[in-house]
Amino acid sequence: AKENGKNTYVYFDTKMQEAVKEKTYIENKLIDALKTNNFQILYQPIYDIKTGEVVSFEALLRIKDSNISPAKFIPIAEKSNLIVDIGNWVIENVLSQIREWLNRGINVKPVSINISVKQFLDGTFLDLIKEYLDENNIYRDLIQLEITESLLLEKNEHTIQKLKTIKDLGIKLILDDFGTGYSSLSYLTYIPVDRVKLDKSLNDRFVNKYNIETIKNIIGLIKSLDLTVTAEGIETMEQVEILRQIGCDYVQGYVFSKPLIAEGCIDLLKN
Ligand code: C2E
Ligand code: CA
Ligand code: CA
Ligand code: CA
Repeated sequence: AKENGKNTYVYFDTKMQEAVKEKTYIENKLIDALKTNNFQILYQPIYDIKTGEVVSFEALLRIKDSNISPAKFIPIAEKSNLIVDIGNWVIENVLSQIREWLNRGINVKPVSINISVKQFLDGTFLDLIKEYLDENNIYRDLIQLEITESLLLEKNEHTIQKLKTIKDLGIKLILDDFGTGYSSLSYLTYIPVDRVKLDKSLNDRFVNKYNIETIKNIIGLIKSLDLTVTAEGIETMEQVEILRQIGCDYVQGYVFSKPLIAEGCIDLLKN
């Protein structure tokens, strides 16, 4: 038994060393990507559930020539503070992409940008967004910001004020990942968001009548607050059909399109 305990200890120790090594490896990858412009943004289309029209895109970050998922590298970037520079890189690049599309006469749709808590709370955040928008001469309704409830675990007046300022600028706010964590519908009565994104984990649960009824009620409540609803991570037409019936406004998911390279969006923007 003693031997066994020892082995377990060694095992955990090795696991921990591996985790630290991996974290350091990814951190260096991120620092390097910032220096060498080795990031890339993919754009996933979001569709109007009634008309099938593309209404907007979500900007999703990748490290070029790497299969490290943002689900892995974003949390590491958040812990190491690199997220502020990376987030700024994303904003700058999305806006110059929009400017490039506009210059080509393309009928651009709004692009949603994911914003981390640290990035949002950074003192320069608002000025930076305004600066990039003005620099590229872009209408404010062409970008939308996706925030998560982690920004609002407590009802912080300063945060709410900042969100209101953003809204007053004409930038739409989307509450992302709804239905995970501590999401409570009461948040929605004081967070000044325009739209709510139902998390994939909720949408994966269309397995029985009870769950469909629950999600229908959630959508009903959201809409009673005059907010619109997007369902994300939608992979089957069966889900789309149910969502249509229970009043969801927009859908995003592999069923219609994976995230695309910028040039791949052009065909979707032509009409
Ligand atoms: P998210 O904001 O919830 O983004 C949706 C994720 O679901 C994306 O993963 C997208 O590719 C994936 N997805 C979309 N449709 C489907 C589907 O039908 N099935 C499945 N299985 N997945 C689907 P991705 O691109 O790997 O990003 C993961 C997370 O990383 C994002 O989750 C977001 O939290 C974060 N992230 C990505 N880009 C950025 C960024 O520029 N800034 C920040 N702060 N976070 C980002
Ligand atoms: Ca998102
Ligand atoms: Ca999400
Ligand atoms: Ca997420």
